[in-house]
Amino acid sequence: MPATSLDQIVALAKRRGFIFPSSEIYGGLQGVYDYGPLGVELKNNIIADWWRTNVYERDDMEGLDAAILMNRLVWKYSGHEETFNDPLVDCRTCKMRWRADHIHGVCPNCGSRDLTEPRPFNMMFRTQIGPVADSGSFAYLRPETAQGIFVNFANVLTTTARKLPFGIAQVGKAFRNEINPRNFLFRVREFEQMEIEYFVMPGTDEEWHQRWLADRLAWWEQIGIPRSRITIYDVPTTELAHYSKRTFDLMYEYPNIGVQEIEGIANRTDYDLGSHSKDQEQLNLTARVNHNEDSIARLTYYDQASGRHIVPYVIEPSAGVGRCMLAVMCEGYAEERTKALPVEKLAAASEALQAFLKSVGRSEKLSGEARDAILARGEALSQALAERLPEVEQLLAMPGADQIELGKKLRGQVQPLIDEHYRTVLRLKPRLAPIKVAVFPLKRNHEQIVATAKAVRRQLQAGGQMRTVYDDTGAIGKLYRRQDEIGTPFCITVDFDTIGQGKDPALAGTVTVRDRDTMAQERVPIAELEVYLREKVMS
Ligand code: ATP
Repeated sequence: MPATSLDQIVALAKRRGFIFPSSEIYGGLQGVYDYGPLGVELKNNIIADWWRTNVYERDDMEGLDAAILMNRLVWKYSGHEETFNDPLVDCRTCKMRWRADHIHGVCPNCGSRDLTEPRPFNMMFRTQIGPVADSGSFAYLRPETAQGIFVNFANVLTTTARKLPFGIAQVGKAFRNEINPRNFLFRVREFEQMEIEYFVMPGTDEEWHQRWLADRLAWWEQIGIPRSRITIYDVPTTELAHYSKRTFDLMYEYPNIGVQEIEGIANRTDYDLGSHSKDQEQLNLTARVNHNEDSIARLTYYDQASGRHIVPYVIEPSAGVGRCMLAVMCEGYAEERTKALPVEKLAAASEALQAFLKSVGRSEKLSGEARDAILARGEALSQALAERLPEVEQLLAMPGADQIELGKKLRGQVQPLIDEHYRTVLRLKPRLAPIKVAVFPLKRNHEQIVATAKAVRRQLQAGGQMRTVYDDTGAIGKLYRRQDEIGTPFCITVDFDTIGQGKDPALAGTVTVRDRDTMAQERVPIAELEVYLREKVMS
């Protein structure tokens, strides 16, 4: 079962170093996050998979990496200066600001309906270029990577001699001054986009739009988001962005956040190339564009068949890396029992839980709201304690729970049981996993075992494809659990048999390979490890 609460992912991300709040030591910066040692690996692996699928495995794609800062005129003619707005309202009661289309007329902070009329708020960040701060010296941080592709259309076309249809892919940072950044990585102010602008003959755009929809759904499935977990939202005309003829939003059901956009696939028509072109009146444009007096280029394609210059239509699949990473983590997350819990231990845990809840019910230290929330969750938990024992940790982390003395006793009772009988596992596709292989010495102070384990790590890492780590910071069971929860598909243990000092001489030169998902263990000769693992870790 995937994650049932966003808190599970937030806690794991923080505990294990996937994601940290930006500038945390100074109180953070709202809507901005840093990717830690494991987060950067997962992010890079997602991007590499997207790039491989969309650039290398197709014959009709080129890559690009355009700068974040661009001439301000780009945003004038793209329409973003005028139309990249969200409707902003203020709550007159508590003075909070909200996006009007997110709150249905009620302030989520204080419940007041006394809100100002919505007014447009431009989401582009401004920055100053050069030492003189006057009205002509500012630029925007790009709110989408797409425009870097459009303004380079002619450059790519002439240097690659591509024929239509073809596309340009780009991955890079985008910035949006979101009114209410929230929900962890879901809505942030600085994020990364993976975007494709696919240029086609006008008239073939609708067919290509459908094809890209199918291709993109296949990719989501390939990285571990089953087709059944994605819904397609055919965006109604009234909600379309200013450049779009039709857009399919792919929606994923995030825990707590609900069904939300993970990728937009838009038919941007000839709007963008047309907008950035000179001589627009000679181009037979279908989109309504502002007259362009500044561009020095015609962004057209010479069609040999008709002998005419045309402005291609564009299909744009655009996905956010952060939303993707969040979905992949939610989807792969599981808390599960690894072995049966003895009846008497379960009974003792259940008793401790009931005693805790009773004390919560009687406590005068808690607000009514906190008490009800803890009791409701606690009751639900006690209905299925054997399956949900690890959730006791979340119960004890609820506001007010730390005021209850018996909470300590409950924790003391269940923690050893959780450690022994349950595990958190992140079932990432192996090729996305931050670490592919972890190598453990059975005994961390045995010279030969340690040396062999370190040699195995070096040998596997030398191939360059498998991120392999060495870990000797605990007993093997604990080390397995630490790797399970970060999604490491394989753990290798070097023991006395490996070095020829075990019970079975036939096992000399072999190690135990343990599979994350099945927990099955297999003995594999060190000499064959690389071949044994190579395909599996890239699956
Ligand atoms: P929303 O309606 O949720 O604000 P959008 O329709 O404005 O999103 P697009 O302009 O279509 O988003 O951007 C393409 C993709 O970029 C989105 O599908 C999403 O994955 C990502 N994205 C957009 N805004 C954000 C953000 N503030 N934080 C994280 N990812 C974002």
